[in-house]
Amino acid sequence: MEKLEILTASAKYDVACTSSGSDRKSQAGGMGNAVSMGICHSFAADGRCISLLKVLMTNSCVYDCAYCVNRKSNQTRRAAFTPEEIADLTMQFYRRNYIEGLFLSSGIMRNPDYTTEQLIAALDLLRNVHHFGGYIHVKAIPGADDILLSRLGLLADRMSVNIELPSKESLGRLAPDKSKQSILKPMALIKEKINENSSDIVKYNHAPRFAPAGQSTQMIVGATPDTDYQILNLTEGLYRKYGLKRIFYSAYTPVVEHSLLPSLDTKPPLLREHRLYQADWLLRFYGFQAKELLDEAAPNFNPLLDPKCSWAINHREQFPVEINRVPYETLLRVPGIGVRSAQRIVKARRAGTLDFYALKKLGVVLKRAQFFITCKGKMLEGLKVGEHTLLRSLMSGQELSPFLQPQYEQLSLFDDTYLAALPAAGAAALRKGESS
Ligand code: SF4
Repeated sequence: MEKLEILTASAKYDVACTSSGSDRKSQAGGMGNAVSMGICHSFAADGRCISLLKVLMTNSCVYDCAYCVNRKSNQTRRAAFTPEEIADLTMQFYRRNYIEGLFLSSGIMRNPDYTTEQLIAALDLLRNVHHFGGYIHVKAIPGADDILLSRLGLLADRMSVNIELPSKESLGRLAPDKSKQSILKPMALIKEKINENSSDIVKYNHAPRFAPAGQSTQMIVGATPDTDYQILNLTEGLYRKYGLKRIFYSAYTPVVEHSLLPSLDTKPPLLREHRLYQADWLLRFYGFQAKELLDEAAPNFNPLLDPKCSWAINHREQFPVEINRVPYETLLRVPGIGVRSAQRIVKARRAGTLDFYALKKLGVVLKRAQFFITCKGKMLEGLKVGEHTLLRSLMSGQELSPFLQPQYEQLSLFDDTYLAALPAAGAAALRKGESS
């Protein structure tokens, strides 16, 4: 239990899974309880939500990344699981129906190769001794040998290599043991292996699958002065070059005092993280390019407007567009029209001409879209297109409020254990921040 507490608490800063679990004792006369042992949720390719045991093999690390609670120079309780313990724990949790899979990461024990061998041993026990068929997401350790990474990929469903910081300079300053090259190399290898594997599967029916759920990465936002423009450019490059399934952004939560990092009372930039997720969505599903959304002159997102509205306001010359004529790609650029509603519009207009009433029924958010579209050549009757009305309609107070006054802390498990391990001043600062 003690090791589990330490190693699930240490894993919570990795956001490759999206939320933590809950902890609830069973009540007299009630049935069942919830155990929060680092259980997080992730989404499968088909949109299904799966619960994972999210744990580190060890929180001991020979590296000294300034932003990390597990860095070697930080005074914190250390623990390590053996491969047998990881396999046993996963099977026990699975049998009790707590989890459907495992998210396994680790600090660097001795060196990247040794750590990867330990991860392989745990996954090998699970897959080949216990015949565990559940989902496994494993971290690839930068610097590990290609052969070891190739073996690891054959045992896992998803692999991820954390890029951590958006620029080479930030990496050099805050993670001196890592280099951009050591992170990108395993990413390239995973991509290559996935490609090779997809042609093997076509040729041989029983070819083993290599990381069938693809690869992802995580980037910390707000720990360094890097701009949204730099982050988005990197994001675009990573999707294009390495075929990543997802990039996760993690608002930096100060956990250690360091002269190169924001002070301990700095709030995690959750709104910025949210804007980056929205922009990431625009790159992947809406056909936008990073350079259209931001540039050197305006390198950060407007916190009050979502990136698509911001783009539309800056490109008023391209609007209004006639909803009954413009191609699908143009529909996607209209604020208030999402992928689903654009598809429905294209389908519905084959049967007849659409008006504003029909658009509303198709799921278009007219409050936003009305300023940018015409139906049968006319804008919405009685619409006032003043600068003030436009901005007020595009800014969603509802959307902003949770970020301006956040009610929760990201991935917080075992708070007391975690706070007890911090220096008194740091713990006090974090406790103070809890309510916000
Ligand atoms: S290598 Fe990973 S665990 Fe080790 S200090 Fe860096 S971020 Fe933390």
